[in-house]
Amino acid sequence: MSVEMGGSTDGAAVIALAAHLVRTRTVNPPGDEAPLAAELAGSLAAAGFATHIVDHGAGRASCLAMIGPAEGRRPLILSGHLDTVPIGETPWQDDPFSATVRDGKLWGRGSTDMKGGVAAIVIAARRLAGLPLRGPLVLALSADEEVGTAGARGLIAHPAFPRTGALIVGEPTGMRPGIAEKGALWIEVRFTGKAAHGAYAHEGASATMGLIAAMPGVAEVVRPLPAHPILGPTTANIAMIGGGSAPNMVADRAWAKVDIRSAPGTSHAEILAAMRTALAAAPLPAGVHAEIAVMSDRRSFETAPDDPLVLALQRALAGAGVPETDPVGLAYYTDAAELLGGGDYTALICGPGVPGLAHQVDEHVPVDDLVRAADAYTALGRELLL
Ligand SMILES: [Zn+2]
Repeated sequence: MSVEMGGSTDGAAVIALAAHLVRTRTVNPPGDEAPLAAELAGSLAAAGFATHIVDHGAGRASCLAMIGPAEGRRPLILSGHLDTVPIGETPWQDDPFSATVRDGKLWGRGSTDMKGGVAAIVIAARRLAGLPLRGPLVLALSADEEVGTAGARGLIAHPAFPRTGALIVGEPTGMRPGIAEKGALWIEVRFTGKAAHGAYAHEGASATMGLIAAMPGVAEVVRPLPAHPILGPTTANIAMIGGGSAPNMVADRAWAKVDIRSAPGTSHAEILAAMRTALAAAPLPAGVHAEIAVMSDRRSFETAPDDPLVLALQRALAGAGVPETDPVGLAYYTDAAELLGGGDYTALICGPGVPGLAHQVDEHVPVDDLVRAADAYTALGRELLL
């Protein structure tokens, strides 16, 4: 296996690399990103990068690569994930791993989300590596974005990962600058009661009735929170409920899993505190107790639309021929949620591909987008690091 990365300034190199990445299966689960991480590290090392493989075990690994002086300009960190979601049950028009180019598009699993973005990042990095950089250019290529967070967490735990910088996550935005991302807080509300035979229900304390009494009030606490101008309100979706063990028993256990998507600027700690207060005030049946456990906590972020990094990216995008560069927001989370835990960064999401096609059958990416992405990342690197 070899990564084809000539010094070509036309679009052929980025399209060829994106196709190669699509053909290299990294469906998560299980992921199997280690061979691809090693291959990319090898080719970046050949281009002069210092590279580190961050091993997550079980065939999983991320790649951290950097070039340029450690002192000087603020680091530019380009981030992409190496894994993809499964291909699903529905048949595809083409083999999802054939990486067919047809109708001006590259087709296949991961083409939009986000091997196209990774290819553009790597090609831009190769171009920038040949220039007299005055600050660090860092590539953070993560495993395990689609299922877990091992990749991003492993990257920021690495001693070589910069603690400040401009962070560009190349997830698909149709090459629009993504300046805000919602947070995701997943909680489980657990109710404990007292079991009893259904014929003597008055001797029990029903956990399921506690759930029914409490959950509307718990979910409602997000309603008065301020909405974000781009991303809208914070939502609390009671995604799953369960409880009890038999039709003829009083339930001694019940649970609800709630998916909270927070608008930037809204604190997860404050949401949790308000939910705990609502739970404590809920009219639970006598003998029923409840508690909230946090299952997953991914922060939101927001960068001001007039931040110098946004303006620099918009200039780079316009220069690369991207027709529409007004900022957008992302309702879904990306690796930015984890990477921002590594220090003090200005974050943006911007990459090739159609956001609505991520995780879909017949996923594809316009090849023009790939070329523009590589050109835009290159131009941004020149502006920030030369
Ligand atoms: Zn993605």
